Amino acid sequence: MSEVRVRFPPSPTGYLHIGGARTAICNWLFAKKHNGKLILRIEDTDADRSTQESIDGILDGLKWLGIDWDEGPYFQTEFAEEHVAAAHRLVSEGHAYKCFCTKEDLDAKREAAMAAKKSQVGYDGTCRNLSADEIAQKENDHIPYVVRFKVPAREGAVGYDDKVLGRIEQAYREIDDFVIVRSNGKPLYLLCNVVDDIRDRISHIIRGQDHMTNTIKQVLLYEALGAPVPVFAHMPLTLDLKKAKISKRSHGEIVAVHFYQQHGFIPWALVNFLVLLGWSPGDDREIFSPEELIEIFTLERINKSNSIFNFQKDDPKFFTDPKAININAQYLQKMPIEEIGALVKEEFIADGLWDESYDGDKKQWFLSTLDLVRERFHTLKDFATTGRAYFADDFEPEKRAVDKNLLKHEGLKEWLPMLAARYEALTDFNQENAETEAKKLAEELELKPGVIINGMRTVVTGCLAGPSMYDALMAIGKDRVVARLKDVAKLY
Ligand code: GLU
Repeated sequence: MSEVRVRFPPSPTGYLHIGGARTAICNWLFAKKHNGKLILRIEDTDADRSTQESIDGILDGLKWLGIDWDEGPYFQTEFAEEHVAAAHRLVSEGHAYKCFCTKEDLDAKREAAMAAKKSQVGYDGTCRNLSADEIAQKENDHIPYVVRFKVPAREGAVGYDDKVLGRIEQAYREIDDFVIVRSNGKPLYLLCNVVDDIRDRISHIIRGQDHMTNTIKQVLLYEALGAPVPVFAHMPLTLDLKKAKISKRSHGEIVAVHFYQQHGFIPWALVNFLVLLGWSPGDDREIFSPEELIEIFTLERINKSNSIFNFQKDDPKFFTDPKAININAQYLQKMPIEEIGALVKEEFIADGLWDESYDGDKKQWFLSTLDLVRERFHTLKDFATTGRAYFADDFEPEKRAVDKNLLKHEGLKEWLPMLAARYEALTDFNQENAETEAKKLAEELELKPGVIINGMRTVVTGCLAGPSMYDALMAIGKDRVVARLKDVAKLY
């Protein structure tokens, strides 16, 4: 394959959408796989809707995901003159023409064509063959005009071989002479996009199927501009369970990459999830390292049909697609603990839970405690919420744990302080001794050991379930364990 040059050209009119991120990821994977280049181009031509905030958000989102680019960011507006020059060239070389028809003329013709039930109701080509004199006359009269592309009057069809969808064609005679420059002199996005892709020597265009309405016209533009047509690969859309496109308006923040950043996702876990929304390895594998994914990624394995984002609004169990949560949990449990430590550090700093000693003399303790508690966790947030009792004293015990393990036993208000006194008296507070004392106390009080142990778990860790009780006691440490057991009455 000759040099692979792909691009990600977001329009900066909002946050980085997970659909856009998925497109960026696939381009990135394809570039990496073929030792190619990924070009980042900000398509800011729509001045009314483009914002700096959106540009910053998109760049931050890509960086957070770990999607780096080789060139850019270029800004489409910087090339406005080139876009205009390309339109002039198309006119001067006979591939486009000035059209002086007014909106009223066009509306009236369209209505008449519809009334006559004509199969084609688009532009009828009135200005396609104006003579040079006629054009000069109209220009002298200052009649406003748009520039239309002159679709070749050929038999047959124009098309391209889509890497995902196969051959896509449209008969020449079904394509209207489409507008490429508005009456205010501004080239249409469809043309700017092609001019930029030619200048950036883009070899493959990997983008969403929502852009397919432009592709045939763009193929005609490439040909007219004398440039090689890139390879196209159109990715499926991502729909919700009701088959509607996922959007902020209907689904809220879950469609934005920053939502996942704010909800404790591991960047690569989100990349892994997003790739699987529209691409498949051909077997049931689900977890891929960056190297693996780069190696096995192919355009041919992009799914043809739309992918489903499994999200039910107001489902208290899942705040986003459960598969995304599950993949994140798998990473959380399997990643080297030092890497998890670095990610939790950022969370803790933001939460005010960070202690400098976690990077110093308590580093070992910090990492082994993370390792101990991570088993049931789903997001990085869980360390500061569910796992808070390991790192701070201001934790709120889970209500279901209090209900189940404390409320039923008023006596625990006396029994747990008794256990605290025994722990305090231990010269060697180790797992074995802690267990022996707890069991001994239960026996003396003629209680099932579970009453003491579950009560202790609730008071010391704040959770109904978690790692082995005695591992947890050791991680939390004697002083904190004793203080919490003594204070049990505060909780109910
Ligand atoms: N600027 C377009 C968008 O943000 C991308 C167009 C393209 O990929 O060709 O959707």
